[in-house]
Amino acid sequence: MVISCWGALVRKLMMMKPKVVFVLGGPGAGKGTQCVKIVKQYGYTHLSAGDLLRAERNKGATEYGELIDNHIKEGKIVPVEITINLIKRAMEETMNQDATKDKFLIDGFPRNTDNLEGWNKNMDTNADVKFVLFFDCSNEICIERCLERGKGSGRTDDNISSLEKRIQTYMQSTKPIIELYEKQGKVRRVDGAKSADEVFVDVQKIFNAEN
Ligand code: UDP
Ligand code: MG
Repeated sequence: MVISCWGALVRKLMMMKPKVVFVLGGPGAGKGTQCVKIVKQYGYTHLSAGDLLRAERNKGATEYGELIDNHIKEGKIVPVEITINLIKRAMEETMNQDATKDKFLIDGFPRNTDNLEGWNKNMDTNADVKFVLFFDCSNEICIERCLERGKGSGRTDDNISSLEKRIQTYMQSTKPIIELYEKQGKVRRVDGAKSADEVFVDVQKIFNAEN
């Protein structure tokens, strides 16, 4: 009796474990654009780590505002303690409102070993990372797109001096994380240099095969 109750509970907990797809690629590789399309078609919840950090910064009153602001302008990666709490809270809020909403696209995270360790420490047993969706795009195209976006985005980091730092951080810190997942067979690579609609055709192939 006790054992069968346990079994049922474990099964219930396993079913409730949120499913996560990490979305990675250089700045301007198309992560956010494609996530919007994936949400519409596959019912995921899109959590952009960058957007969560910008929202936290914009609250103004919080103790981390200035730190986040400086890190973003410098293209540096915010300490994971801050980011992971924002991600965790956003996931919990989504599932508390609707328990069936258990599929998440986590966009722009994990970006370095600190991020990865923070995830493993806090979330590894609470969520299943299904795969890493990697938008592969040359630095030149990434820079060009972000400069174009910068004309209207109002972002403090879509300018050439921040972009050079962001690309450097991407090459030095994020690429090795993608390579690590690659070794585990978890990376689904997409050519991100094409138009948004063309890229989405390839993205659909991946999600149709996974679901
Ligand atoms: N950022 C961070 N940790 C994260 C995600 C983002 O520190 O987990 C910061 C970092 O400074 C990064 C900036 O937020 O350069 C913008 O990230 P975002 O993902 O919004 O930029 P994108 O790659 O989409 O252009
Ligand atoms: Mg983005």
